[in-house]
Amino acid sequence: MSSHKLCMIPGPIEFHDDVLQAMATPATSHVAPNFIPILGESIEMLRQVLFTSGQPFIISGSGTLGWDMTACNLIEAGEDVLVCNSGYFGDRFGECLETYGAKVTHHRVPVGEAPNPSAVAELLKTKKFKAITITHVDTSTGVLADIKAVAEAVKKVSPDTLVVVDGVCSVGSEEIRMDAWGVDVVLTASQKALGAPPGLSIMAVSERAIGVFKARKTPIPNYYANWTRWLPIMNAYEARKPSYFATPAVQNVFALHTSLKQIVAQGLEARFAAHKEASKKVKQACADLGLKLVPTGLGHAANGMTAVYYPEGVVATDLLPKMAAHGVVAAGGLHVDIAPKYFRLGHMGISTDPARPDVDATINALKESLAEIKAAKN
Ligand SMILES: *Cc1c(COP(=O)(O)O)cnc(C)c1O
Repeated sequence: MSSHKLCMIPGPIEFHDDVLQAMATPATSHVAPNFIPILGESIEMLRQVLFTSGQPFIISGSGTLGWDMTACNLIEAGEDVLVCNSGYFGDRFGECLETYGAKVTHHRVPVGEAPNPSAVAELLKTKKFKAITITHVDTSTGVLADIKAVAEAVKKVSPDTLVVVDGVCSVGSEEIRMDAWGVDVVLTASQKALGAPPGLSIMAVSERAIGVFKARKTPIPNYYANWTRWLPIMNAYEARKPSYFATPAVQNVFALHTSLKQIVAQGLEARFAAHKEASKKVKQACADLGLKLVPTGLGHAANGMTAVYYPEGVVATDLLPKMAAHGVVAAGGLHVDIAPKYFRLGHMGISTDPARPDVDATINALKESLAEIKAAKN
């Protein structure tokens, strides 16, 4: 994979050769003895990654399917949900919840800021919320939410409210201690910090939330995403027994399994530290270039990605193609209020390995591209 442009966006991220190799397998039955333990072990390793004894789900789909699964299984029509909205993905999660009849209240914060735990506490006093959702890393702003502090506020003011974390851009790069912090749902996808190709919707659900799901009064308004169908499947694979509801993405699961094995072998603490180091380097380089970050403070900036404003007079069509010509793919803006004004760099997974050139190559591509733009304007 040496001759491709580095994919330094906030997902999909660079894949390890072993992860790709794991997909290059012959046709394999989803109930074959060499596949069942692969899915079973992936379920077990996911618990280690999230520090939870909860119920993992690994299902064909993308991160978005995690929103549908949360909404259709845990929320009943007419119930209130509080969405901590720090950008694009808060809007979208809210839309998904409303599709299933939830009454959504948004806790919106200005661009670049993180949800405010005391504001959340005040909102929770206004009515009974079935759940609160928090985007852990808002991929549209590079903001890192303090999910531990928000979960603490929820426990104090409204302990029955389920705490749901959109960790699509944080699982595998940011610390999440699901059980210790009292988080009920973490949803993610294979292609961001978990370092596998896109194709899998991945989540973990607390025992308490499974209880809420089982006690619901109205039918689940979805077919494929219904946990009644998936719980026995996950339990069977974990018990190393064949089972079938809808064919799993066998090759994607092989890839995820390989990536999870690498993550667990590296150790979560070491992985979080590696992401912090890579992030520091990228953010320092941006500061050295006089560039301003979208997050309003480093204390709430993500460690797996960086959102950066273009310097005065530079636009996406100047910078991104130049960086690509230097071998690095970066992403444009996504937050509607500022989309043309900033760009995004991902630095997750194997790209944080100091033995790999990815981070330095990205910084160099940025430096050289900006210098070329400046030279052309003079
Ligand atoms: C990427 C992303 C999603 C959507 O995931 P898909 O895999 O594209 O469906 C949701 N939330 C966040 C925070 C994301 O970064």
